[in-house]
Amino acid sequence: MNSKLTPERILRKAVVYVRQSKPSQLIHNQESTRLQFSLADRARTLGFQRIIVIDDDQGRTGSGLVDRPGFQRLAAEVCSGEVGAVFCVEASRLARNGRDWHHLIDLCGMVGAVLVDLDGIYDPALTNDRLLLGMKGTISEFELNLFRQRSTEAILQKAIRGELQIQIPVGFCWAPGSKLEKDPDQRVQQAIQLPAFPHDPGERKMIWKLPGYATLHSMLTNPIYAGAYAYGKTETRTKVVEGRARKSAGHRKPQSGWKVLIQAHHPGYLSWEEYERNQSMIAANAHIHSGAAPKAGRGGGALLSGLLRCRRCGRMLHVFYPGTIVRYVCNAARGQYGERTCISFGGFRVDAAMSKELLQAISGNAIQAALEAAEQTQQKRRDLRQAIELELEQARYEARLAARRYESVDPDQRLVAAELEARWNTVLQKTKELENKLQEFDDESQSAPVPNKQVLLSLAQDLPAIWSSPSTDMRLKQRIVRILIREIVADVEEKSREVVLVIHWAGGRHSELRVKKSETGRSRRCTDPEAIEVLRQMAGKFSDQQIAATLNRLGLRTGVGNAWNVSRVHSARSYHQLPAFAQNDQPREVTLQVAAQRLNVSQSIVRRMIEDKILPANQVVVCAPWQIPVEALDSEAIRTEAINIKNRARVPQSQSVEGQQSMFSER
Ligand SMILES: [Zn+2]
Repeated sequence: MNSKLTPERILRKAVVYVRQSKPSQLIHNQESTRLQFSLADRARTLGFQRIIVIDDDQGRTGSGLVDRPGFQRLAAEVCSGEVGAVFCVEASRLARNGRDWHHLIDLCGMVGAVLVDLDGIYDPALTNDRLLLGMKGTISEFELNLFRQRSTEAILQKAIRGELQIQIPVGFCWAPGSKLEKDPDQRVQQAIQLPAFPHDPGERKMIWKLPGYATLHSMLTNPIYAGAYAYGKTETRTKVVEGRARKSAGHRKPQSGWKVLIQAHHPGYLSWEEYERNQSMIAANAHIHSGAAPKAGRGGGALLSGLLRCRRCGRMLHVFYPGTIVRYVCNAARGQYGERTCISFGGFRVDAAMSKELLQAISGNAIQAALEAAEQTQQKRRDLRQAIELELEQARYEARLAARRYESVDPDQRLVAAELEARWNTVLQKTKELENKLQEFDDESQSAPVPNKQVLLSLAQDLPAIWSSPSTDMRLKQRIVRILIREIVADVEEKSREVVLVIHWAGGRHSELRVKKSETGRSRRCTDPEAIEVLRQMAGKFSDQQIAATLNRLGLRTGVGNAWNVSRVHSARSYHQLPAFAQNDQPREVTLQVAAQRLNVSQSIVRRMIEDKILPANQVVVCAPWQIPVEALDSEAIRTEAINIKNRARVPQSQSVEGQQSMFSER
């Protein structure tokens, strides 16, 4: 029985700490794991009854760079004072960094626990043991660094010779003698599908799949395809998070920073010049990347570009400009995996609805609230300034007092005079500091003046006009949007054909906005279907002038909102491939005007005859000219009726001049 294992310690708990630093060691070095677990048997042999095995840190390095919950549990157990001994295979298992190691020894020493490894039992409370443990810790730390340094140096040397067998992408293989060769598989050049290596650890197997963005990008950017051997293209960065160093690997370095680059190392699939050309092209295209964060305003026609996030997949929406219109599309998945487009909707209606929402947000009430907040801040600043002024006044008084005291003292009393002078200086110094503080405060106030309330309110009223003015720069609008809105999550409801926007306002408020989707196949500049229908009905039967007059009477406008005229009707007619008006010498139907001439009565009489259903006539659409069949005009009955009406009517006849269009609707 060892003298350090006092009965008191044996009555306490024994903690067995088991750890393998790397997952691979955990799999392949099972002998060591078994050895570590056998420590529990040793503890039992030494007489411990209560044994705790802590194996939470399997696969975690002890270098202090990752969290080790097991080690923290160990420290907590020791702190409880219940632990009599800590068992581990060797010191390096406990900690590979000085801080953790010394912390543990300290704790053990404080609570009177011993450390047990395969060689012996150490009591941290004893100076010699403590020295030994300290050495063990230091050596363990040193050992780790030495290993690391040696292996990295060896790796680098091998890489400089171009012989280090780095992980190579598909299309290459390592030949005997550390030579890189093209994969002899001919399918690589022929298939539309591309081979790739799956990312799961273990044996690398080649699989065939549709080429996605990532596959193509990595192929284009990997210099190995241009026959170059490169090593050290990425670096590991260390950041301190919550008091612990966190390492993150895989940060790409610029080509100039690569550790090894051997051109013409092996036969490639493309030349180095082609590779470099590809790189510069990719760099020039880099602004297309959507990234994970909303982006700043970049101009362009879309108000919400870089602000919309897809609710279905969480990616940022892209903006497309097919022609003059704007479309928001989530097609990241298509770019990445060749899947179909997630959601897409026209930008015009959404932008307009958002503009309305925004203008409402910055309307009068909001400005009023902001001004009140500014006024409160101003009041606070005034109070603060007054406090500083009072303090300064006090300091000046003290300075005058100190001056008087100094003057009144007998100069021969040097000690007193020196002391008083020092006091005077201190007070003067304080006065100076306060004066500076006041000056700084005033400067600051001047640099942030409160805006004139009236001006601001009138600006708020002008904003809608400025906003909708075509001369306003889109960039400015985008900037305003970005100040107010953090992000918008968008989705499309197919059933109600609505775009659902959840707006995350800058203040943390959320609101939902629903915008009707525009009809499929119709853009906002497209001609009204009603107008097209009128065109269809009238084309061939009436002149373009008549069609234009009818359309205008119906209050219909062209796609861009203009009134109709001959040339616009002509172009719309030819666009829809409608027949032109064929001038017929013997038409089968005539207009009201012609009918009136033939019957030798006024147009109003003809109209009355049509209304009374005496004269058959029809109208293709309301407001279109009447079409009166020629046969009806030739019939004797109608001619007589017309004369009768004319004779009965005492109203003066309106003169109708040949070739003159009626001023009023020919109803
Ligand atoms: Zn999506």
